[in-house]
Amino acid sequence: MTKPLIGITTNTKSNINMGELTLNITYAPTELMTAIEQSGGIPWLIPVMDPHIATSYIQRLDGLILTGGQDVSPNLYGQTPHEKTDAGHLERDQFEIALINASIHHKKPLLGICRGMQLYNVALGGTLYQDHDINPQSTLTHVQKNSHTHESTHAVTFSQSSRLFNVLGPNISVNSYHHQSLDQLADALTVVGRAEDGLIEACEHHTLPHYLVQWHPEWMYAYDTASSQLFYHFIQSCSPDA
Ligand code: MN
Repeated sequence: MTKPLIGITTNTKSNINMGELTLNITYAPTELMTAIEQSGGIPWLIPVMDPHIATSYIQRLDGLILTGGQDVSPNLYGQTPHEKTDAGHLERDQFEIALINASIHHKKPLLGICRGMQLYNVALGGTLYQDHDINPQSTLTHVQKNSHTHESTHAVTFSQSSRLFNVLGPNISVNSYHHQSLDQLADALTVVGRAEDGLIEACEHHTLPHYLVQWHPEWMYAYDTASSQLFYHFIQSCSPDA
Protein backbone atom coordinates (compact mmCIF):
# COMPACT_ATOMS: atom_id res chain seq x y z
CA MET A 1 0.00 0.00 0.00
CA THR A 2 1.31 3.46 -0.90
CA LYS A 3 1.92 5.50 2.23
CA PRO A 4 -0.37 8.55 2.13
CA LEU A 5 1.14 12.03 2.40
CA ILE A 6 -0.68 13.83 5.23
CA GLY A 7 -0.57 17.63 5.46
CA ILE A 8 -0.50 19.16 8.95
CA THR A 9 -1.38 22.80 9.51
CA THR A 10 1.05 24.73 11.71
CA ASN A 11 1.20 27.69 14.06
CA THR A 12 3.72 30.53 14.17
CA LYS A 13 5.49 32.47 16.91
CA SER A 14 7.67 35.56 16.56
CA ASN A 15 10.72 36.74 18.50
CA ILE A 16 11.43 33.49 20.37
CA ASN A 17 14.55 33.83 22.51
CA MET A 18 16.87 30.83 21.88
CA GLY A 19 20.07 31.70 23.71
CA GLU A 20 21.96 34.09 21.46
CA LEU A 21 19.36 33.87 18.69
CA THR A 22 15.95 35.48 18.37
CA LEU A 23 13.89 33.39 15.97
CA ASN A 24 10.53 33.37 14.22
CA ILE A 25 9.27 29.78 14.24
CA THR A 26 6.64 27.49 12.67
CA TYR A 27 5.47 24.54 14.74
CA ALA A 28 2.98 21.67 15.24
CA PRO A 29 2.55 19.03 17.98
CA THR A 30 5.25 16.35 17.79
CA GLU A 31 2.73 13.72 19.03
CA LEU A 32 0.68 14.31 15.88
CA MET A 33 3.61 13.48 13.58
CA THR A 34 4.29 10.31 15.59
CA ALA A 35 0.62 9.27 15.38
CA ILE A 36 0.57 9.77 11.59
CA GLU A 37 3.85 7.92 11.02
CA GLN A 38 2.86 4.98 13.25
CA SER A 39 -0.54 4.78 11.51
CA GLY A 40 1.15 4.33 8.14
CA GLY A 41 1.26 7.90 6.82
CA ILE A 42 3.96 10.45 5.98
CA PRO A 43 3.58 13.68 7.99
CA TRP A 44 4.10 16.87 5.97
CA LEU A 45 4.08 20.25 7.74
CA ILE A 46 2.36 23.12 5.93
CA PRO A 47 3.51 26.63 6.87
CA VAL A 48 1.05 29.54 7.02
CA MET A 49 1.21 30.88 3.46
CA ASP A 50 -0.75 33.01 1.00
CA PRO A 51 -4.23 31.46 0.45
CA HIS A 52 -3.52 31.37 -3.29
CA ILE A 53 -1.20 28.35 -2.94
CA ALA A 54 -3.65 26.26 -0.87
CA THR A 55 -4.87 24.35 -3.93
CA SER A 56 -1.29 23.45 -4.93
CA TYR A 57 -0.79 21.88 -1.50
CA ILE A 58 -4.06 19.95 -1.54
CA GLN A 59 -3.45 18.58 -5.05
CA ARG A 60 -0.18 17.01 -3.83
CA LEU A 61 -1.51 15.72 -0.48
CA ASP A 62 -3.57 12.58 0.22
CA GLY A 63 -5.18 14.02 3.36
CA LEU A 64 -5.17 17.06 5.65
CA ILE A 65 -5.16 17.46 9.44
CA LEU A 66 -6.20 20.82 10.90
CA THR A 67 -4.45 21.28 14.26
CA GLY A 68 -5.47 23.15 17.42
CA GLY A 69 -4.40 26.67 18.36
CA GLN A 70 -5.76 30.19 18.62
CA ASP A 71 -9.42 31.18 18.69
CA VAL A 72 -10.93 31.69 15.24
CA SER A 73 -11.27 35.44 14.46
CA PRO A 74 -14.93 36.27 15.39
CA ASN A 75 -15.38 38.69 12.48
CA LEU A 76 -15.17 35.64 10.19
CA TYR A 77 -18.58 34.62 11.59
CA GLY A 78 -20.03 38.11 11.95
CA GLN A 79 -19.33 38.77 15.63
CA THR A 80 -17.17 41.21 17.58
CA PRO A 81 -14.60 39.64 19.95
CA HIS A 82 -15.82 38.60 23.41
CA GLU A 83 -13.56 39.67 26.31
CA LYS A 84 -12.33 36.07 26.73
CA THR A 85 -11.53 35.55 23.03
CA ASP A 86 -7.80 35.65 22.33
CA ALA A 87 -6.06 37.83 19.73
CA GLY A 88 -6.21 35.06 17.14
CA HIS A 89 -4.14 34.70 13.95
CA LEU A 90 -6.09 36.02 10.97
CA GLU A 91 -3.49 35.04 8.33
CA ARG A 92 -3.58 31.47 9.65
CA ASP A 93 -7.41 31.46 9.63
CA GLN A 94 -7.54 32.71 6.03
CA PHE A 95 -4.94 30.26 4.74
CA GLU A 96 -6.55 27.28 6.50
CA ILE A 97 -10.01 28.26 5.17
CA ALA A 98 -8.46 28.11 1.68
CA LEU A 99 -7.05 24.64 2.51
CA ILE A 100 -10.51 23.52 3.70
CA ASN A 101 -12.19 24.80 0.52
CA ALA A 102 -9.56 23.09 -1.65
CA SER A 103 -10.02 19.82 0.29
CA ILE A 104 -13.75 20.01 -0.38
CA HIS A 105 -13.24 20.79 -4.06
CA HIS A 106 -10.73 17.95 -4.55
CA LYS A 107 -12.62 15.55 -2.22
CA LYS A 108 -9.50 14.86 -0.10
CA PRO A 109 -9.94 13.32 3.39
CA LEU A 110 -9.72 15.78 6.30
CA LEU A 111 -9.48 15.51 10.10
CA GLY A 112 -10.10 18.69 12.11
CA ILE A 113 -8.86 18.81 15.72
CA CYS A 114 -10.18 21.33 18.31
CA ARG A 115 -9.68 24.75 16.65
CA GLY A 116 -9.65 22.77 13.38
CA MET A 117 -13.25 21.66 13.99
CA GLN A 118 -14.31 25.20 14.93
CA LEU A 119 -12.60 26.78 11.91
CA TYR A 120 -14.13 24.19 9.55
CA ASN A 121 -17.62 25.00 10.85
CA VAL A 122 -16.97 28.74 10.39
CA ALA A 123 -15.50 28.21 6.91
CA LEU A 124 -18.75 26.54 5.84
CA GLY A 125 -21.01 29.22 7.35
CA GLY A 126 -21.47 28.11 10.98
CA THR A 127 -20.85 30.10 14.18
CA LEU A 128 -19.16 29.57 17.55
CA TYR A 129 -19.88 30.29 21.20
CA GLN A 130 -16.91 32.52 22.03
CA ASP A 131 -16.73 31.21 25.59
CA HIS A 132 -18.45 28.55 27.70
CA ASP A 133 -19.72 31.42 29.91
CA ILE A 134 -22.16 32.38 27.14
CA ASN A 135 -23.19 28.82 26.24
CA PRO A 136 -26.06 27.88 28.54
CA GLN A 137 -25.52 24.21 27.62
CA SER A 138 -22.00 24.07 29.06
CA THR A 139 -22.02 22.59 32.57
CA LEU A 140 -18.91 20.38 32.43
CA THR A 141 -15.29 21.47 32.74
CA HIS A 142 -14.07 21.63 29.13
CA VAL A 143 -10.75 23.28 30.00
CA GLN A 144 -9.14 20.58 32.11
CA LYS A 145 -6.56 21.53 34.73
CA ASN A 146 -4.16 19.67 37.05
CA SER A 147 -3.95 16.70 34.68
CA HIS A 148 -1.74 15.41 31.88
CA THR A 149 -2.75 16.16 28.30
CA HIS A 150 -3.27 12.42 27.66
CA GLU A 151 -5.74 12.04 30.54
CA SER A 152 -9.44 11.99 29.77
CA THR A 153 -11.88 14.14 31.74
CA HIS A 154 -15.26 13.63 30.07
CA ALA A 155 -17.13 11.19 27.84
CA VAL A 156 -18.34 11.54 24.25
CA THR A 157 -21.36 9.58 23.00
CA PHE A 158 -21.71 8.90 19.25
CA SER A 159 -24.89 8.55 17.22
CA GLN A 160 -25.42 5.04 15.92
CA SER A 161 -25.79 6.14 12.32
CA SER A 162 -22.37 7.85 12.24
CA ARG A 163 -19.13 6.67 10.64
CA LEU A 164 -17.23 7.50 13.85
CA PHE A 165 -19.58 5.13 15.75
CA ASN A 166 -18.38 2.33 13.46
CA VAL A 167 -14.74 3.13 14.25
CA LEU A 168 -14.95 4.13 17.94
CA GLY A 169 -18.11 2.48 19.30
CA PRO A 170 -20.96 4.09 21.27
CA ASN A 171 -18.83 6.15 23.67
CA ILE A 172 -15.25 7.03 24.58
CA SER A 173 -13.44 9.14 27.18
CA VAL A 174 -11.58 12.21 25.94
CA ASN A 175 -9.39 15.07 27.09
CA SER A 176 -10.76 18.63 26.87
CA TYR A 177 -8.86 21.88 26.20
CA HIS A 178 -11.37 24.21 24.60
CA HIS A 179 -13.06 27.35 25.98
CA GLN A 180 -15.15 27.77 22.81
CA SER A 181 -17.65 25.43 21.15
CA LEU A 182 -19.86 25.12 18.08
CA ASP A 183 -23.10 27.14 18.08
CA GLN A 184 -24.93 27.21 14.72
CA LEU A 185 -23.90 24.24 12.62
CA ALA A 186 -22.86 24.62 8.97
CA ASP A 187 -25.41 23.06 6.59
CA ALA A 188 -22.95 20.47 5.24
CA LEU A 189 -22.22 19.01 8.70
CA THR A 190 -23.94 16.53 11.01
CA VAL A 191 -23.32 16.41 14.76
CA VAL A 192 -22.28 12.84 15.56
CA GLY A 193 -20.79 13.12 19.07
CA ARG A 194 -21.76 15.04 22.20
CA ALA A 195 -20.45 15.43 25.75
CA GLU A 196 -22.72 14.64 28.74
CA ASP A 197 -23.76 18.32 28.90
CA GLY A 198 -24.80 18.25 25.25
CA LEU A 199 -21.83 20.21 23.87
CA ILE A 200 -20.87 19.30 20.31
CA GLU A 201 -17.70 17.18 20.39
CA ALA A 202 -17.68 15.52 16.93
CA CYS A 203 -19.08 16.21 13.45
CA GLU A 204 -18.98 14.60 10.02
CA HIS A 205 -19.49 16.05 6.55
CA HIS A 206 -22.66 14.75 4.89
CA THR A 207 -20.87 13.24 1.90
CA LEU A 208 -17.09 13.75 2.17
CA PRO A 209 -14.61 11.80 4.38
CA HIS A 210 -14.23 14.86 6.64
CA TYR A 211 -14.17 14.25 10.42
CA LEU A 212 -14.11 16.90 13.14
CA VAL A 213 -13.32 16.32 16.81
CA GLN A 214 -13.26 18.81 19.68
CA TRP A 215 -10.73 16.88 21.78
CA HIS A 216 -7.00 16.17 21.14
CA PRO A 217 -6.55 12.51 20.08
CA GLU A 218 -2.89 13.16 19.21
CA TRP A 219 -2.04 13.72 22.89
CA MET A 220 -3.87 10.50 23.89
CA TYR A 221 -2.56 8.42 20.98
CA ALA A 222 0.23 6.62 22.89
CA TYR A 223 -2.09 5.78 25.82
CA ASP A 224 -5.55 5.17 24.40
CA THR A 225 -7.01 2.57 22.02
CA ALA A 226 -9.79 4.82 20.67
CA SER A 227 -7.29 7.52 19.68
CA SER A 228 -5.02 5.05 17.89
CA GLN A 229 -8.08 3.56 16.12
CA LEU A 230 -9.14 7.04 15.01
CA PHE A 231 -5.73 7.78 13.48
CA TYR A 232 -5.36 4.31 11.96
CA HIS A 233 -8.71 4.48 10.17
CA PHE A 234 -8.24 8.07 9.04
CA ILE A 235 -4.71 7.52 7.70
CA GLN A 236 -5.72 4.28 5.93
CA SER A 237 -8.66 6.08 4.30
CA CYS A 238 -6.18 8.64 2.88
CA SER A 239 -4.12 6.02 1.04
CA PRO A 240 -4.16 6.53 -2.74
CA ASP A 241 -4.91 2.75 -2.98
CA ALA A 242 -7.90 2.92 -0.58
MN1 MN B 1 -14.85 18.98 25.76
